[in-house]
Amino acid sequence: MAKVEIDESLCIGCGACMAICPEVFDIGPDGLAIVKKDEINDDVIMACEGCPVEAIKINEEN
Ligand code: SF4
Repeated sequence: MAKVEIDESLCIGCGACMAICPEVFDIGPDGLAIVKKDEINDDVIMACEGCPVEAIKINEEN
């Protein structure tokens, strides 16, 4: 299971996650967020909390 996932059915492509943590998040060709690097750090958690539609899922178990 991926550590960081974007729920594409929720993402509105606002770019906030990329602004907070460009190391991990980017906006893909379809205008929605993508995960470039599957890792959890403080910025990823902040981006997750800052997503206006709660589209970022963090799986801490693995
Ligand atoms: S902050 Fe949320 S809604 Fe905005 S681009 Fe990132 S995942 Fe999508």
